[in-house]
Amino acid sequence: MTFDAMGIKDDLLRGIYQYGFEKPSAIQQRAVVPIISGRDVIAQAQSGTGKTSMIGLTVCQVVDTKSSEVQALILSPTRELAAQTEQVIQAIGEFINVQVHACIGGKSVGEDIRKLEHGVHVVSGTPGRVCDMIKRRTLRTRAIKLLILDESDEMLSRGFKDQIYDVYRYLPPELQVVLISATLPNEILEITSKFMTDPVRILV
Ligand code: AMP
Repeated sequence: MTFDAMGIKDDLLRGIYQYGFEKPSAIQQRAVVPIISGRDVIAQAQSGTGKTSMIGLTVCQVVDTKSSEVQALILSPTRELAAQTEQVIQAIGEFINVQVHACIGGKSVGEDIRKLEHGVHVVSGTPGRVCDMIKRRTLRTRAIKLLILDESDEMLSRGFKDQIYDVYRYLPPELQVVLISATLPNEILEITSKFMTDPVRILV
């Protein structure tokens, strides 16, 4: 399948091609269409497979940039990955004017507050800082329709389980969930059964 055949909006396609991609990677071939059509998806994939770009492009497709509310939330195990995801979204979303913010520890809370008050469509962050921002009511969750848990096994091994469950409790009940993980141990399956409905499973 080509990017053109995926039903992606024109201004986002321009961003993808300008970024230098010509043809979708294996995970993009299989995961993009189910995600943009609203399905819950479990993707068993390693880094380097194109998963970050897959996240960027699906998030850009589903957000309505005319609204100024946060509509998609991505949780990652490390600050570096959360920041990298933010950059990919910014780059491929250039022509749709998507506003994305990385909520990560080690940066000033004041900056988070300023940026979030200004209107952000997508938040990419680490579970601890995101949880904190939600509890301070700086990060409003009512319009969030898509939650992406990236490198989920890594988030659990870094001790973020309670924060992930905490964040989930603040999100609207009509939530689409995408879970990406290299491995699927029991603790991950517990999350999939609690958070997800009839997920599509993809192994790449
Ligand atoms: P990722 O797993 O998304 O971090 O991607 C790994 C590397 O592959 C990065 O350098 C991406 O820019 C690149 N990449 C991802 N998707 C594609 C694609 N469809 N075509 C060419 N390169 C890609």
